[in-house]
Amino acid sequence: MDHTNFPEAQTIEQLRQNIATIQARIDQACADAGRDPQEVRLLPVSKTHPAEYLRLAYAAGCRMLGENKVQEAHQKWQELEDLTDLKWSVIGHLQTNKAKYVARFASEFHALDSLRLAQALDQRLTIEDRYLDVLVQINTSGEESKYGINPEQAPELIAQLGEFSRLRVRGLMTLAMNSADREAVRGCFIQLRELRDSLQAIAPAGMQLTELSMGMSGDFELAIAEGATIVRIGQAIFGAREQPDSYYWPK
Ligand SMILES: *Cc1c(COP(=O)(O)O)cnc(C)c1O
Repeated sequence: MDHTNFPEAQTIEQLRQNIATIQARIDQACADAGRDPQEVRLLPVSKTHPAEYLRLAYAAGCRMLGENKVQEAHQKWQELEDLTDLKWSVIGHLQTNKAKYVARFASEFHALDSLRLAQALDQRLTIEDRYLDVLVQINTSGEESKYGINPEQAPELIAQLGEFSRLRVRGLMTLAMNSADREAVRGCFIQLRELRDSLQAIAPAGMQLTELSMGMSGDFELAIAEGATIVRIGQAIFGAREQPDSYYWPK
């Protein structure tokens, strides 16, 4: 995917405009799919951008920001603590020994991928007296390099997650294959939706797997066509990043 053609937004007005453009594309994708745009949430992904810059995003209307790396996110949360209604969504792989950071400040976590991590989060959330919305990350691309559990492991993990009172399991997340082959990308999204549907039938009582976090700057319209309820958009709002994707998920 060519990431170089997203210009950097440098003012509140430019950010507002980029967000409005993306929202209009989301609305159109929903209309094309016969879906209600209210079902799809835009999650702006602000990784690599410094806290002071994120004040512009806040001024442009953002009230939740997605971050891949927990320590970067935790740092920004501290620097922006005066923005009391700004919420944080951690969307990247998390080592168990860093669960304490997520428990401290995040509202949402999209990359749950083991029972051990669920235990650590639940324990830390109890200490902080907080709750966390979580999504289970699924590797739908079959690529070794991508994080997330394999689809076959999902029923067991979902069944086990019922016991954690501090975790609110909301659904599934995936990173589609990074490919120019649209049908291969679509296949990843279809797989996530079908898996969610089959898991809902066996989920512990009270667990509603409504969320499908899928779609990024390059493929969110396709994801919406296949049922996405959260699209994670970075570069199309904030501009191209210098770091290659391999900085966030190993190649
Ligand atoms: C960075 C990131 C995104 C957003 O990617 P863009 O290409 O900037 O839209 C989505 N999901 C995850 C997990 C990310 O780390």
